[in-house]
This record gives sequence, C-alpha cells and structure tokens, in this order.
Amino acid sequence: MVVGVLVELSNKNIDRIFEYNVPEELASLIKIGIRVLVPFGKMELEGFVLEIKKEKDTDKELKSIIDVVDSNIVLNEELLELGKWMSEDTLSTLISCYQVMLPKALKAKNGSNVSIRFDTFYKLNNDINIDKLNDTQKRIIDLVKEKGIVLKKDLVDISLSSLNTLVKKGYLLEEKKEHYRVLYKDKEIVKKILTDLQQKVVNEVINGKNQTYLLYGVTGSGKTEVYMEIIDHYLNMGKTSIVLVPEISLTPQMVNRFRERFGDKIAALHSALSDGEKYDEWRRICRGEASIVIGARSAIFAPLSNIGVIIVDEEHSDSYKQSDPNPRYHARDIAIKRSLHHNCSVVLGSATPSLESMARAQKGVYKYLELPERVNGKSLPEIEIVDMNHEMKKVRGHFSNKLIDEIGKRLEKREQVILLLNRRGYSSFVTCKNCGFTFKCPNCDITLTYHKSSNTLRCHYCGYGEKVYQECPECKEKALNNLGVGTQKIEEELQELYPMAKILRMDYDTTSRKGMHEEMIDAFKNHEYDILLGTQMVAKGLDFSQVTLVGVINADTSLNIPDFRSSENTYSLLSQVAGRSGRAEKEGRVIIQTFNPDHYAIRYTAKQDYLAFYNEEMRLRRELKYPPYYYLCNIRISGKNALYLFDEAMKIKRSLERNLNSVIILGPNSGNLFRINNIFRYQIIIKYKTDKELREILSKIIEHYKSNQKLKIDIDFNPSQML
Ligand code: ADP
Ligand code: ZN
Repeated sequence: MVVGVLVELSNKNIDRIFEYNVPEELASLIKIGIRVLVPFGKMELEGFVLEIKKEKDTDKELKSIIDVVDSNIVLNEELLELGKWMSEDTLSTLISCYQVMLPKALKAKNGSNVSIRFDTFYKLNNDINIDKLNDTQKRIIDLVKEKGIVLKKDLVDISLSSLNTLVKKGYLLEEKKEHYRVLYKDKEIVKKILTDLQQKVVNEVINGKNQTYLLYGVTGSGKTEVYMEIIDHYLNMGKTSIVLVPEISLTPQMVNRFRERFGDKIAALHSALSDGEKYDEWRRICRGEASIVIGARSAIFAPLSNIGVIIVDEEHSDSYKQSDPNPRYHARDIAIKRSLHHNCSVVLGSATPSLESMARAQKGVYKYLELPERVNGKSLPEIEIVDMNHEMKKVRGHFSNKLIDEIGKRLEKREQVILLLNRRGYSSFVTCKNCGFTFKCPNCDITLTYHKSSNTLRCHYCGYGEKVYQECPECKEKALNNLGVGTQKIEEELQELYPMAKILRMDYDTTSRKGMHEEMIDAFKNHEYDILLGTQMVAKGLDFSQVTLVGVINADTSLNIPDFRSSENTYSLLSQVAGRSGRAEKEGRVIIQTFNPDHYAIRYTAKQDYLAFYNEEMRLRRELKYPPYYYLCNIRISGKNALYLFDEAMKIKRSLERNLNSVIILGPNSGNLFRINNIFRYQIIIKYKTDKELREILSKIIEHYKSNQKLKIDIDFNPSQML
C-alpha cells in the first residue's frame, strides 16, 4: 500500500503530496483523512493521508510511514474537499487550510499533548444478597440502586475499601468512561411562544428552498428566539446546526439561552476554553454526541454531518474574517460553501447588515427577511444627539449636561445605565480637541494616520501625505491631539459626579481573567451595580431588563478610523449599543455625544433608519469605487530590506497593470504597520469587478517569489481592515 501525505509544514514549496510506503502492520489503520508520522528529510513530521493507492507513481524508492497518529480520521471527506477549495479561493497553502479546521490540541507543532481523561463509575451487578453486607456497603448499594450509575468522584464520604470489596465480591461493576472537561446540567426547557412576525420568519426558512437568507431584525426583535426555533425544527428531523457568534466569550447570555433550551446537545467552542476543553468538545461533535455547535469564526469547520441549518448571528461583524495569518477566509463564505454540500439553508442575521449582504439581498442573491419591530411591542428607544462642539465650552470633563442630568434621573429611580466609551483600536489619527476637526485624505475621503517618526499625516490607501500642523486648520486653535481617553479616566470622572453610584468598569483590562466577563454580567443583571461603563464589549448582545438609559461618551472615534467602512462600523456600533436600552417593560432612552452631529452615520443612527443609511452609504461607495461595487484585494509585501521591497513592489504593480484590464491599482504604500520588529511592509490595493485574470496573475506572482527568502507575499481578498 502507498499513501499520499500532506505534511504539516506551512511552506509554499512543500505544499503538495508526498508518497510513502505503508508497512504491512499499519495498513489496516490507514484511512483517508487520518494523520500519520513520516520521515521528511532529517525530520519526522505529522501529515494528513489524502490518497491511498496500490502502486507508487514514481520509480524512486519510497520511504515508509513511521506510525499512525490518531485512532480515527480527523478530517472527513467534506472538510478535505472544503480545504482544497479554500486553498484556491484564498491563495493559501493547503496545509494551512486543514490546520485552521482542527482544534489546537491536534496541531503537531503546538506539541501540546492534551490527554483524554476518564471517569470511573459503578453499576449494580445482578444477584445481590443484601443480608451479607455491612451498613456502609448497604448504603452504597442503595445509592447505586437509586441512581443507576454512580461516579466514583461523587462518592466523597465513602471509604474506598468498602467500594473495592463490593467490586471484588462482584456486587458492583466498575467501568471507565471518557470524561469531558465541560459538563452540562440538564435544565428545564424554556420555550417562548413566538409572535406572528417571528413565526412567519421561521416558516419562511423551514418551508422555503434551501438557500441563504438575510434576516434584518431590529435590536430586541427576537432574532435569537427565531434561530432556536429553526434549529429545533431541524433537530427534530435528526439534523445538526451551526450557530456562529462574533466573539463567544463576549456573548455568554446568548450561549446560556441556547443551553437552557437544548442542554447537552450543545457544543460550545469558546475562545475562553482551554485547549483540552476545546478538544473534548470537538470529539463530542465528531462522535455525533452534540448536534448543535455554537462558536466564533472557526466553529464553521465543526465536523458535523447532516447539517440542517447554519446561522450567522451579527453577520456584519468583522471578526468573521480571519485577517492574519493565512488562510484569510471569511466564515460567511465558508458557511455558504458548506450549505451547498449539505443542501441546507444559511441564515445571516443582523440589526445592521453589512452593505455587501444587504446589496446581495436586494439583488435577490439572498432571500430577504425582516423583523422590523421589537418583541415587547415598544418602539425602539428614543435617541438624542448632543453636539459636543457647544458642550465642550460649558463643561470641563467628558460629560455633557444633558447626559449628567439623565444619568442622575435613572439613579434616582433605581434604574440602570450603560455607558459606551468608543475606543475602537487605533488612536493614531489627529483630531482637534476644540472643534473635533480631523484630517482627511483629499483623494480618498479617509482619515489620515499620524506617523510619529516622520511627523507626517499619511493616507494608507493612496499614499498621500502632508506635514502635521501646529494649529487646527478649521478653528485655528492649538488644540490638536492624537490620544484617546481611557475608561479609567472616565470612571473617575463619573464617580466624582455621582459619589453614591456603583460603577462597573468593563474593558479588556478588567475582563482578562477567565470567567470575569460572565461574573460581571451576572453582577450587573442582579443590580449590584447602577452603571456599566465599558468599551465595545458593552454593545454586544446584552439583554438587561432594568437598563433604561444608554449613553455614548464619544461617537467619533470609530468614525475617524482610516477605513472605508468607518461609517458603516460606527452606524452598526451605535445602533447595537442603543439597542441595549428599554428591552423590557420600561421605555428606553439613548444619548449620543459627538463632535460630528451632522455626519450621516450619526444622523441616521438617531433616526434609527437603517435603510436610509444603507442608501446613502451605497451612494458614496459607488462614487468612491468601494465594495460592494468593487471587490478589494490587498497584496502585502514584507521583508527586511525596505528599498528592495519597494523595488519589487513596483515590479509587481507593473506586472499587474500589464496583465489586468478595468481594475484600479493603488500603491505600493507603506501602511500604518510599516515596520514591525524590523520587518517592513508595503501594500498594493486592487479594486476589481471580476477575479479570474486577477487570480491567475496573483498565482503566478506567488509562484515567482515562493523561494525568495528576502520577501514574503500575503494576499488578502476582501480585507476587513486596511491598515
Ligand atoms: P435580538 O436578538 O433580536 O436582539 P432577542 O432574541 O434577544 O432579540 O429578544 C429580546 C428579548 O425578548 C429577550 O429577552 C427574549 O427572551 C425576549 N423574547 C424574544 N421572543 C419572545 C417571545 N416570542 N415572547 C416573549 N419574549 C420574547
Ligand atoms: Zn488617499
């Protein structure tokens, strides 16, 4: 027997199949998709068996595989095929595509040898003569009789010798069962009666064709309940489901709702789980013990068979795109690809669908569904915009009189408040503290980024640059700053304003310990705190009935990010956080502080008019030739020698220009991340409409440079960030 093996070494040069002989004694264990240990040069590497043949293809002497790594296959036929498609679609190595599908515990170079644990338990043997036993032994037997099965670790107050005696005498059977690190308690099934609107959406999906649906549902419209009902339908048909959520460790409430309803049918793939825990969950999925998988991006590769539906919640989230390292895939694309294999539906849900998805829905590529009203029958919370250009002259801190006032009222009424400090990522753009002015690129309408080393402002798209002014060109004040404010500072200010208020600060610093985020959510839910202050993470999926006010301290930060999606991201973030207010009986309000009250993203947020925002943003995207009118592809060229890189980048650009028609090529530019650890990076951005020729020429370029040690090329189709 001869096998074709793909070895676990992510190098473009050896990303192909190598043949090995299979020793007789291992032949019966070999299957396609199993991992084997093989000699490779002077190394021993793990690899995937992708082919099994009777005869070798070459005349060369073949080496033999050393061993079989797993007792069973780790990638089934569907996933093996999917990997091949991904590798072509993202121009990544095949091995990187297979690696991203598997839990870390299975990754060779990781070397983490996660063990499988066992539980010991006891069962009753037949024919027991109780009379012969002493009291302790009788107690044990009674307990086992009552429960059927008793775990050894649950028998805490019972002596081991009594147990062993019972086993030796044949009264009890001792058995071992694999122990999963994550255990679920059985809970009462909680099922809500759907509203007519919800039921209509459910019916459309379960009775309609198997296709991709876009569900636009305002915050609090009961999307989660709809997802669960659809999943239940397929569960009853014996089918499985995948639910993707943006960041699972930030959405414990959502996971808990699923768990309450579906109990141990759920496998949750948290980023907060240890490698061992993830491995356990993955094995439960492989064995068909879990039929609903809920998790973040990589959960889309869950080895389920017979999938009935794939749900992508908050489908607009950029966390679904893997930006680094390869393969740079989008979970939405993988979901749709898998749905074709399983002939099942995909439901993309959001209160603020991405422009790409909405445009597809409007064209009829996706079927459009909507939940335009809140389940509680109330209208969406009223949103008020506070113009900080005026307020800054009146107040000293970061709070407007309006917001101070409204927070005070809630505290008096013992209602709760959520405050968002918008601090999305990077603060390397320059704004005027006095008037809120930001520097923009005249060609691209993108915020310029501050480069400290050269003291210049640059556009990361087209390379435009200008010197930093001392004063603001708008109001002429010397009030330029390029630093964001921290949550801690705001917390202090807040505590000074309301000495009696109990404030809970939630950001990446305070939630870094495992389980902390969940504890905080519980504490806030139990009203141990009055105000929840935090970064982006307070905007996501939280459902608190006592919250009647949401305040946004600075709406502008995300508007100023140098990315063509900054308006879309701002609209989405503000709508999401606004949606945390007034979710139950009491009416909710929202106050948004901004220096840009006239910006359309802010205005349409205030009106809660997604469609109007969508139309306006589409108009701009068309004008500026951005997605969804054009696709984007980012070619990143990195290496140690900046001059050499630039020359090569220019050559690449020229060859693209020679070979491609009707595309727009920008760059090469040095982005924000021009130099990291002495590695320089240039990027070339291509705006295109069809990709056939582009892929051909890119493949050639990759091929051309694949053995070049001085330069690395990374291709990112539909990049989520452009920095
Ligand atoms: P979304 O995900 O669209 O923001 P959720 O699914 O979280 O909305 O629903 C909002 C709130 O309404 C939740 O507390 C949920 O339990 C409740 N809810 C949803 N559907 C119903 C229903 N049919 N009957 C009663 N309550 C519901
Ligand atoms: Zn520009």
